[in-house]
Order: sequence, then structure tokens, then C-alpha cells
Amino acid sequence: MSHRNMRRIATKLTAWFARNARDLPWRRTRDPYAVWISEIMLQQTQVKTVIPYFERWMRALPTVEAFARAPLAGILKLWEGLGYYRRVRNAQAAARHIVNGRAGRFPEAFEDLLALPGVGRYTAGAIASIAFNQPAPILDGNVMRVLSRLFGVAGNPRGKAVNTKLWALARELVSVRGIEPSQLNQALMELGALVCLPRQPKCAACPVRRDCFARREKRVGEFPAPAPRTPVRRRRFIAFVVRRGVRCLVRRRPHGEVNGGLWEFPNIEIPVNTKNPAAKTAPYSIAPGGPFCRVRHTITNNRILLEAFRATLIHQRGLRGAWKTIEEAGRLPFTSAHRKVLEAVSVMLKSPINSPATPAKSPRCSGCRTD
Ligand code: SF4
Repeated sequence: MSHRNMRRIATKLTAWFARNARDLPWRRTRDPYAVWISEIMLQQTQVKTVIPYFERWMRALPTVEAFARAPLAGILKLWEGLGYYRRVRNAQAAARHIVNGRAGRFPEAFEDLLALPGVGRYTAGAIASIAFNQPAPILDGNVMRVLSRLFGVAGNPRGKAVNTKLWALARELVSVRGIEPSQLNQALMELGALVCLPRQPKCAACPVRRDCFARREKRVGEFPAPAPRTPVRRRRFIAFVVRRGVRCLVRRRPHGEVNGGLWEFPNIEIPVNTKNPAAKTAPYSIAPGGPFCRVRHTITNNRILLEAFRATLIHQRGLRGAWKTIEEAGRLPFTSAHRKVLEAVSVMLKSPINSPATPAKSPRCSGCRTD
């Protein structure tokens, strides 16, 4: 596409963004720390879910220094429900690098941003452009969709060749002279979020509808090409709710494992088709009558069923964990699925958790019996 056409598209996008940008808390600042935190939270998570998390985070940890100093348990608690906990661990490693290795000065150069733990090309581009107004491209799922339709880029947008092409288009657009990179990149994100939707895009309201290849050719449904499907993996876990008076046995997941540092009820994975889970449960003995709570949730391509049983201990050999009241447990960072179990136990014991947390992707709890 000619430079002139690129300029026309970039101008329309930024003008549209100036009129239509949502008032989001992280858009009220150019503080790179705030931009960075918002971008990490927004990965895999919807804007409306992120807003309360972001506001709470910035109240608790308003600076990169505060983040670097904060204990991991407190950070995980602030993040509880957003999932993908590796993001926040990497982010704290990056915060410590900024504070200890750069005297608290946030990197401005794209390459320096990219060198931070957990910061990839997209996040580095977002911080460089939004906070420092540098012409660094961004390409996430929304922007891929917009660009592949607008320029008619066929093929899997995550495949190497097509992806390279899309990055090049994003770079061309954000590099148009006289355009504010910050506004251009946010316009692309916003257009993908509000107008160029995956299904039923609102083309009539689109500022670049006259330039759009897919719309002109009446082939919007063909772009972007669907990514090859990853086969679904069904998994089943059973959790043991063992009580000692008003306390329950809970344990912290080891560091280095998925969701390391988060708390959960003791649990095991069993084959999906197991007819009688009672046979698989030593050192726990589960009470008759089936699970009192079922939680279904999805992590990447894993479709997980977690069933919680009342249980007693047969022996204590090798037992790992801590006995906590519901209130004490409520103050600990739990995995989203086990948080649901904790809520069911709280109702069952008529003992409030007293710790509001709103999971981002709340797993579905079905068939809960709390009598
Ligand atoms: S015209 Fe439609 S398909 Fe094309 S960029 Fe705009 S919203 Fe997307």
C-alpha cells in the first residue's frame, strides 16, 4: 500500500480514537509503570474485568518501588482471579531489576523494555508507544484481526510468514510521520475491541470502512483465517475438604509449579472416567454421598472438572498443609477453582470468608450442595 494511503488510514484511525476512546483508568496517565501493569493484566482478560483489579493494584502498589518490595503472597492476593500467575511473578522480577539495576528508572528504549523478564514484543511496543510515544508497533489478537481485514492478509495470523507481514503493516502504520504513535496504537486496539469484532463487525460505524479490503470484497468472514485448533484435553480432579473443628486443611502449591505459591485444598487428578473415586483417595477417606461442589473451568485447551468431597484423614504420613479457619483461608491467595470450593465450604459452615475477590474468569460451580 502506498505511503499516501497509509497516511490516510492512520489519520482516520487517530481522529476516530480521539472521539471514541473509552475513559479507562490506565488511559488517564502516561506513567510507564501504570501502562505496563494494565498491559500485563489485559493479556487474556477483558477490560471490564481488569478495571477493578487495576484500581486496587495501583492503590496498593502505586510505584515500581512498592511493587519490587512487596511480598509475593500479597501480590498473588492482589492478582487472585486473574489467572496466568507467571505474568505477575515475571513482572515482579522485572520491577526488581528496574529498582536495583536501574535505580528505579523505567526503561524507555524498546530493546531495554524487551530485555525485562516477561516482556515480549507486544508489551514492549505498547509501553514504548503509549508511555513514551515512540513509533513501536503492536500486534495482539485484536490488532491482528483489524489489520488482516483492512489489508486483506490471508492465512493464519499466528503463522510465521503471515505474522511477519502483519508486524510490518503495524510498523508502517505507527511510523507515519505526524501521527502520534500512542494514539495510533490505541486506536487499533480500540477499533478491534469495539468495532471490528470477531463476529459481526460493525463495519457501518468503522472509520476505515472505505479503505477496508475485506469489506470491499464482501469477504469479512474470511479474515483472519482461523488458527488450527488445539485438541481439547479433558481432566478431572477431586479435592478433599478435611475439617478439624472450625479449621480446614489447605496447602500451598510449590513454587516452580503451575500456580506456584497459591493455596488450594488437597487434591489429586484421576482418570476422567473413574466410576468410584473413593478407591483412589488415600490418605483421605471421602464421605459417602458424592461431591458437595463441582467446579468446571478451562485453562488453555484443558477442560477441567474439580469435584470437592467432604473427607477425613486415614493417616497423617507425609501430610503437607496447614489448618486454617475459613476467614484465615479467605485472606490467602487461592487458585480460582479452589476459591469456589472455599466459598461453598464457607456457606456450608456458615462462616463468612470476609475477603472480597472477583475472579476474572469465574469457573462455573455446578451442583453445589451446601447442606
Ligand atoms: S470495515 Fe469492518 S472489517 Fe473492515 S476494519 Fe472496519 S470493522 Fe473491520
